[in-house]
Amino acid sequence: EVVVKKNFIHQIIEEEIKAGKNGGMVHTRFPPEPNGYLHIGHAKSICLNFGTAQKFNGITNLRFDDTNPSKEDTEYVDSIMEDVRWLGFDWGDRLFYASDYFQKLYDFAVRLIEEGKAYVDDQNAETISSQKGTPTRPGTESPFRNRPVAESLDLFQRMKAGEFNEGERVLRAKIDMASPNMHMRDPIIYRIMKTPHHRTGDKWSVYPMYDFAHGQCDYWEGITHSVCTLEFEVHRPLYDWFIDQLKDSDYRPRQIEFARLNLTYTVMSKRKLLQLVKENYVNGWDDPRMPTICGLRRRGYTSASIRNFAERIGVTKVDGVIDVALLEHSVREDLNKHAQRVMGVLNPLKVVITNFPEGQVDELDAVNNPENPDAGTRKVPFTREIYIERDDFMENPPRKFFRLSPGKEVRLRYAYFITCNEVVKDENGEVVELRCTYDPASRGGNSPDGRKVKATLHWVSVTENVKAEVRLYDRLFSDEEPDGHKDKDFLEFLNPDSLEVLDNCYVEPFVKDAKALDSFQFERLGYFNVDPDTSSDKLVFNRTAPLRDTWAK
Ligand code: ATP
Ligand code: MG
Ligand code: MG
Repeated sequence: EVVVKKNFIHQIIEEEIKAGKNGGMVHTRFPPEPNGYLHIGHAKSICLNFGTAQKFNGITNLRFDDTNPSKEDTEYVDSIMEDVRWLGFDWGDRLFYASDYFQKLYDFAVRLIEEGKAYVDDQNAETISSQKGTPTRPGTESPFRNRPVAESLDLFQRMKAGEFNEGERVLRAKIDMASPNMHMRDPIIYRIMKTPHHRTGDKWSVYPMYDFAHGQCDYWEGITHSVCTLEFEVHRPLYDWFIDQLKDSDYRPRQIEFARLNLTYTVMSKRKLLQLVKENYVNGWDDPRMPTICGLRRRGYTSASIRNFAERIGVTKVDGVIDVALLEHSVREDLNKHAQRVMGVLNPLKVVITNFPEGQVDELDAVNNPENPDAGTRKVPFTREIYIERDDFMENPPRKFFRLSPGKEVRLRYAYFITCNEVVKDENGEVVELRCTYDPASRGGNSPDGRKVKATLHWVSVTENVKAEVRLYDRLFSDEEPDGHKDKDFLEFLNPDSLEVLDNCYVEPFVKDAKALDSFQFERLGYFNVDPDTSSDKLVFNRTAPLRDTWAK
């Protein structure tokens, strides 16, 4: 069994509740920036935010952190809502946008200027950053730091009115240019941007920085626990500083940081995922090789398997890299319990059962799911000609090869024992057909004389089947940490064999009405689901995961 680590955030909340903090209320938020599709790392944050609220009878807001119009789009907003819902979480009527607060944030900024806690700086970003100093050396104060309040107010109002070009002026908080925390050295809180916003259009020419928006939104929404990833730990004093200026009661949101999820053989940054999509290294955000939630869904991952995975990896304060085999283990475990079993042959080799009557169809009973007796049985048609997997036959087998070879007897799953008598080859010497005989007494898979066979093969009737295309996926990257190399770009580690398309596969008739995303176990092969590319004349499957589990327990 995989050990579930103790969640330190839950421990903190338990202690707070004992102490009577916030009247026992737990109110979290999930705050994605709509600049890309959600990935498995976001799933960890979603499960943590929604899961924590559920555990303590609290509530969770979905808040779009849409403060940077140049990268954001409604396409992303829509996909994010779909993915959060699919993961099994519901924000009810608590849907918010940082852009809902643009006026309030602006008014708060004006108040800071009036209180002498913010000023307009006429210097460009480059100059400002050159004055930042180093962690051990104080920064240089801007020559505009002590300009009159009225001047800053006027300039900020004109920035808002669109009078200046991008980069000409910024608004900065006036905190401490000598602070050991670089984020406290008069951080920029507003910049001029002329790009239209996906919700507010061209109403605004100034946009708040993330640090200026996030905590205030938390405060206005009544968030109690603002959970974010570790890199924001150094921003926390600034988060608290803004809340100190804003708050008018004892209530304050508390920022708590946890380690972001990193996975082996995977890149997780939205910028890199966007690059994979834009430059066509994959077929879109929902390519089944992508670590996006829509990619995993299309690949056949169930939402339960992703929630279980998030639970297992736990929540800690230490950055690390999780073995992607654990994610694969989670989906196998869930599909093993729930997936309908069928037989499918990916690389067919025709077998003619010479003593089986032509035209006869024998309906055999097959178990739908050995893990779930309630799933019942189904009929699988057996005919004179069947396909078996090419790999299950060897003309000159090594000693330990127990599957089919000349003169050998094997069991066909749910059907009969067959013996191979003859190998038919084409002019190139390639095996194109086997001629076998079957033992009618072994119907169901056992011989009354107790004769043993070592191998059981899956098979599909040549005449009673559904033809399919099957897409086999391997890891998108061949290196464990594709973006962990200083001297090499992550693209250099793309696995050239991450997709293999087999277009001559046969599956038993049971799947003929299968719908997009339905999952199956192809016996002996792995888990496969129906790809949305499926049409009325072409069934397409994705391999979700092979059966073999590489997770080291
Ligand atoms: P990226 O770096 O991939 O662009 P981001 O943090 O900028 O991600 P956001 O849309 O801002 O993306 O993320 C929304 C929430 O999801 C944030 O609270 C963020 O901390 C969390 N999150 C993002 N990536 C991860 C991750 N790998 N593991 C855990 N949480 C994550
Ligand atoms: Mg972010
Ligand atoms: Mg980002």
